[in-house]
Amino acid sequence: MKLESIRNFCIIAHIDHGKSTLADRLLEVTGTISQREMQNQMLDTMDLERERGITIKLQPVRMNYEGYQLNLIDTPGHVDFTYEVSRSLACCEGALLIVDATQGMEAQTMANLYLAIDQDLEIIPVINKIDLPAADVEKVSAEIQHILGCKKEEIISVSAKTGENVESILKAVIDRIPPPVSKLDKTKALIFDSSFDDYRGVIAYVRVIDGEIKKGDALTFMVNAKSTEATEVGYFSPRQKSKEKLTAGEIGYIVTGFKDVSDCRVGDTVTLQKYPAEEPLDGYADVKPMVFAGIFCKEGDDYSDLREALGKLKLNDAALTYEPEHAKALGFGFRCGFLGLLHLDVVQERLSREYNLDLIVTAPSVAYQVIGTDGGSQIIASPLDLPDPTRIASIEEPMMVVDIVTPAEYIGGIMQLLQEKRGQPTSSEMEYLDKERVIIHYVLPLSGIVVDFYDRLKNISSGYASMNYEFHEYQECKVRRMDILVAGDPIEALATIVYVDEGERIGRKVVEALKAVLPRQQFEVRIQAAFSGKIIASAKIPAMRKDVTAKLYGGDVTRKRKLLEKQKKGKAKMKAMGKVDIPKEAFLSVLKR
Ligand code: GDP
Ligand code: MG
Repeated sequence: MKLESIRNFCIIAHIDHGKSTLADRLLEVTGTISQREMQNQMLDTMDLERERGITIKLQPVRMNYEGYQLNLIDTPGHVDFTYEVSRSLACCEGALLIVDATQGMEAQTMANLYLAIDQDLEIIPVINKIDLPAADVEKVSAEIQHILGCKKEEIISVSAKTGENVESILKAVIDRIPPPVSKLDKTKALIFDSSFDDYRGVIAYVRVIDGEIKKGDALTFMVNAKSTEATEVGYFSPRQKSKEKLTAGEIGYIVTGFKDVSDCRVGDTVTLQKYPAEEPLDGYADVKPMVFAGIFCKEGDDYSDLREALGKLKLNDAALTYEPEHAKALGFGFRCGFLGLLHLDVVQERLSREYNLDLIVTAPSVAYQVIGTDGGSQIIASPLDLPDPTRIASIEEPMMVVDIVTPAEYIGGIMQLLQEKRGQPTSSEMEYLDKERVIIHYVLPLSGIVVDFYDRLKNISSGYASMNYEFHEYQECKVRRMDILVAGDPIEALATIVYVDEGERIGRKVVEALKAVLPRQQFEVRIQAAFSGKIIASAKIPAMRKDVTAKLYGGDVTRKRKLLEKQKKGKAKMKAMGKVDIPKEAFLSVLKR
């Protein structure tokens, strides 16, 4: 196919603004899928994604329309996957920006839009749901013009539901989005996604930038320095359709034969072994976990199921990491690394829904970077890995840029929340979208976001605020490991890293929470929070009512006997000390705090 006849574009949209519905209409109008084949919305939605406001990624698809090859790929609408969004955008020359006529722009849309503008994509603004009585096309149109600086006439108004005006989108794609350009150079293809197939192994989703890739070609994945053969190449229709070769400008897939998705990283460059390109494409980044948590089974004998389930999830999720971990009170489990909190939620939810596992997840900690007195630096996956304070020169924490779109009436409450979470205003702290809605830009420690930020934001704004965050930089912070001791025994699973100036408050909270759930013992139990041995908060659980002996012997007990009893009890107490069995249920409530 000639480059002039190819158009590559993606969709940027907030959850529920109509991306899936519009994609269905486009498939229909182009005859890619007949009306009969069309089950409403080609993809299933996961409840969790709906609850969390994450849009589900569409399958890439190629459509033929009036002699043109139109390739639609999608950007994940998930805040933790900014890097993947940027790689999807790098495969395209244009983007559809879909905005619900009854809602207006939202934070996630804005963030992805900025990325698209950064990469010089041609943006085609689309207002959807014009069939609804509540549609306010004028208002949303003004908002879009304000943000994009575009003309009113450039905005296309449609109903994805009725199909009204949907064809104008295709015409605009052809007229406004430039065709791909390619140098007559050695083969380079950009990986923007991948999937794992039980029978065929890892399938790379690629945009061929230069040259071509044929079935049977020996390939090199440049950054990861892996080699394999293209056992099949093809395109999405939307099902995979094999083909002899993929040429410059095209989007399609390569069946790689790899057994592990980490051999085929998003952003890597595929080239030919015979005539390799000199340099990989720009923009590769090795995404690293930003949030860690321990995952344990409520039932000890589920451990091997958990291991297997994580292994399976990992096949389709190169960003997930896991290492075996053992905690005295929780047994065997895994220390897992995630791109962010939503990524953690998605994995946890899939483990329980798809694999039926009953789990205990420890409080998430962020990826602190510890600079040692010897000058070395390391990322800490667990509070327990934090070196002795004498060997630490400084600790740095990940800071995020947070964008919040909200109706103006909630600004006060949101500002308060941002302050409480140690937020720092940016130079463009606040921007009005129109008279009623603003975007707030702040820099915030990730540790403040992982606790309860999202829920509180939703509460404060009655559900109207939307947010997006992105990694900004590492910044020095004053934190320490806080240990929790029960009867003098440190409970590893409850160790956390906290700000020094919040240690007392948080320590008290944990201690009180534990006190409320721990069963009474034969002896008094002390619960303490400590910074390297220095107690910062403590509570006592009184002993169970004793006196069985006193009742048995009444007043008849001789002194000697009394003494013996006392000694025995003392010994039993010594033995029992440090052996407080903490029921797993107790953990659940404490870890949730
Ligand atoms: P997505 O989350 O962006 O993929 O949004 P969906 O395509 O799943 O649409 C969300 C909801 O809006 C669904 O209930 C759709 O039926 C509805 N919807 C989508 N487009 C339109 C439209 O043009 N008009 C109306 N009335 N409803 C629409
Ligand atoms: Mg959808």
